[in-house]
Amino acid sequence: AQQRYASIRDKPAETLCGQRIKLKMNAGLMADLPSLVGSGAEGVGLFRTELQFLIRNHMPKRAELSELYARVMDAAGEQRVVFRTLDIGSDKVLPYMKPNDEPNPAMGWRAIRVGLDKPGVMRMQLQALIRAAKGRPLTIMFPFVAQRDEFTAARAEMDKALERERILGHPIPAQIEVGAMLETPSLAFAPDDFYSEVDFISVGGNDLKQFFFAADRENERVRRRYDTLNISFLNFLEGIVYRCATLGTPLSFCGEDAGRPIEAACLAAIGFRTLSMRPASIGPVKSLLRRIDLGQLRELIHAERARGAQTVRPAVMDYLRDQM
Ligand code: PEP
Ligand code: MG
Repeated sequence: AQQRYASIRDKPAETLCGQRIKLKMNAGLMADLPSLVGSGAEGVGLFRTELQFLIRNHMPKRAELSELYARVMDAAGEQRVVFRTLDIGSDKVLPYMKPNDEPNPAMGWRAIRVGLDKPGVMRMQLQALIRAAKGRPLTIMFPFVAQRDEFTAARAEMDKALERERILGHPIPAQIEVGAMLETPSLAFAPDDFYSEVDFISVGGNDLKQFFFAADRENERVRRRYDTLNISFLNFLEGIVYRCATLGTPLSFCGEDAGRPIEAACLAAIGFRTLSMRPASIGPVKSLLRRIDLGQLRELIHAERARGAQTVRPAVMDYLRDQM
């Protein structure tokens, strides 16, 4: 598939109206990194760090993690990698941790909640990341932040880890950016201060959508029931874009929808300027973006909203077909 899009690999994802959209890739293994060049991605917008914890039968050692993160940064060269701290929940049980029986694991004790309640692992991971950076810039993102104080506490852990390294005389990163994933509707309505406190926000559309529609992303009966292009969801996302724009918070979108061309086009139309997706989606998404006018698409979405449409999909599909 990458060969099909080879001719646009080094071209920008620039729409007909001249808007540049940054397309980044999602990764989780060292083996994903060669795709950075192959796909033409502009950096890694989401590095899921769970896999290194799941593929072993013991807790990885700080030195092992640090070495791996350093190799990931080496492979990315000048491009940035957004490392997401461990998003482990009772659905993704670590083989060496006591399982936790929870009726609704997706809404349970997972991700940053575990990181803050039992900070040992998160501290180890932050230290591994700082050491891996060795004076280079470092970007870290905390998953599943539901309210401001969780981010503040996680960032404080980051600052403490930095201070410890400084005292030990180790090199610290040249620059650090610390962001939050917006995966629960609550965070969209957090106080303005939250939006100024974070260095960036990345919308985790997979989780956000399941909580917005109250439809379990793992449940075959309901997972496809609600359309991402449902006007309620687009209105909600547009609100997030608006807040970030007004408060000056860099924003990206990193759920699976970012890698679906029609969804990606609509996300760009409502104002997302950075999308992170699986590497194989970069070509198809870029190919579509290069052939559309975002202003027209935005007008169409707003007209559908005014008309009372439940989803903009049929109108958007018609429009895009006419453009091709
Ligand atoms: C998301 O929820 O959209 C996301 C990117 O994280 P994950 O799929 O790993 O939960
Ligand atoms: Mg998620």
